[in-house]
Amino acid sequence: MADRLITSLTNDTVKAVRALHMRKEREATGRFLAEGLKFIGEALDQGRTPKLLLVGEEARPHPLLERAKAETRAAGGEVVAVTHAILEKISRRDNPQTVLGVFEQVYTPLTAIVPGTAPCWVALEQVRDPGNLGTIIRTADAAGCGGVVLIGDCVDPYSVEAVRATMGSAFAVAIAQASAAEFLAWRDNWPGSVIGTRLDAATGYREADIQRPALILMGNEQAGLTDALAAACDVNVKIPMRGRADSLNLAIATGIMVYAVTDQA
Ligand code: SAM
Repeated sequence: MADRLITSLTNDTVKAVRALHMRKEREATGRFLAEGLKFIGEALDQGRTPKLLLVGEEARPHPLLERAKAETRAAGGEVVAVTHAILEKISRRDNPQTVLGVFEQVYTPLTAIVPGTAPCWVALEQVRDPGNLGTIIRTADAAGCGGVVLIGDCVDPYSVEAVRATMGSAFAVAIAQASAAEFLAWRDNWPGSVIGTRLDAATGYREADIQRPALILMGNEQAGLTDALAAACDVNVKIPMRGRADSLNLAIATGIMVYAVTDQA
């Protein structure tokens, strides 16, 4: 049972949720939209409950859905039943997930990061592609990293596209934001190795002497890691490019780097 049923595409709640596709609205409300019962289950496991749970009329009964409804209500949120047409409109997909959640965004202040709680952390300079960012958050979670620091003008980690690509890992690792200057000041107290990744690096990614916790810096998709940030690293490394491709996709390169560090004996 839901608290109410919405059938109109012009309902104010529907309009407010649809507006979360826009960064301006996400920043104004501090909220974001997440799709699917898997994401919502991961969020509940991390102690995050939706402010609003939208359940499609055709959603099949499931113990996790019942848990989501109960925990949403217990935390003061609302459970709303909606039509398939509304789910399509909100998710902008022909084949939408039958359960959607609206959550509060969470950012970890740089000063709250405790490096020694994880063997590896990732810092991204001006990442622009939401799919890359979501994939990196998912991969960082999978590899056992503590979190991701977004440096400078990055894509919004709480965009619908980025959240989709996290596959539920958005709350599993810390997400922090910093200007380049804030990052450089914070980096000075990093207790382990700070490793830059550059195509022009002389050191192979398996040759560097890495002290954990490691902080791995990845560059922008087009411009790469800037000289200023590369100069602040203890070492810059390169993953070998053996074919005709001149670089790896950012998320793939990040995956190779984080596993190289976390699998190190
Ligand atoms: N044209 C850019 C350049 O010259 O750096 C390419 C950027 S690449 C698509 C995006 C990021 O992925 C790089 O900044 C770096 O962090 C990482 N990356 C990609 N391929 C890499 C490689 N072979 N070795 C080290 N890092 C790599």
